[in-house]
Amino acid sequence: MTASELPRHTIEQTWREVVDTARRSAADGLVVGTSGNVSARVGPLVLVTPSGVPYDRLGPRDAVGVDLDGRQVLGDLAPTSELPLHLAVYRDTDAAAVVHTHAVHATAVSTLLPEVPLVHYAAALLGGPVRTAAYARYGTPELAKAMLVALRGRTGCLLANHGTVTYGDTLERAYERTAQLEWLCRLWLTASCVPGRAPKLLSEAQLAEVTEALQGYGQPN
Ligand SMILES: [Zn+2]
Repeated sequence: MTASELPRHTIEQTWREVVDTARRSAADGLVVGTSGNVSARVGPLVLVTPSGVPYDRLGPRDAVGVDLDGRQVLGDLAPTSELPLHLAVYRDTDAAAVVHTHAVHATAVSTLLPEVPLVHYAAALLGGPVRTAAYARYGTPELAKAMLVALRGRTGCLLANHGTVTYGDTLERAYERTAQLEWLCRLWLTASCVPGRAPKLLSEAQLAEVTEALQGYGQPN
């Protein structure tokens, strides 16, 4: 199926969800102004927030769509300059949605550590200890490459001196992972602030136990 064969209502509905998620990230304080971006995949089409337009000004007619090679196939506004990050995730994983933010606590931790310390089992929601991707300038293929290395076996990572990337099989799940990652980083920073004390960390085995428990969570058998 090509992008032009997709049902119009499917595109409209997904675009609405992309815009709602972007607005939510601003309302929740995960991004300031237009500093983050959100995308969702529908078959061969990737709907993505445009570059430099405040989310409250985005309407149904502002949908921006590209194919997996980044060629614009829908809309007049230019896609986000972070498009290479989004496309790299779709090409490398089975993601249906990607959220990128400059959330303050997560970005702070990205300047300090190569990996978010295991202060809480919420790390299991992201597939394990969250790594920090090596620094490269925003919008570059180098950054996308570093991000894929950090994402291996995870559904989220930090980008050094930059921000966060998470993905999921729905926008809701991708967003929830960003919120959890930011919370986890805030928790570590808070616990690390106590003079003379260092936070006690969970072991990989303790995290593996949680991952196993979560796999059966919410299912009857
Ligand atoms: Zn960014």
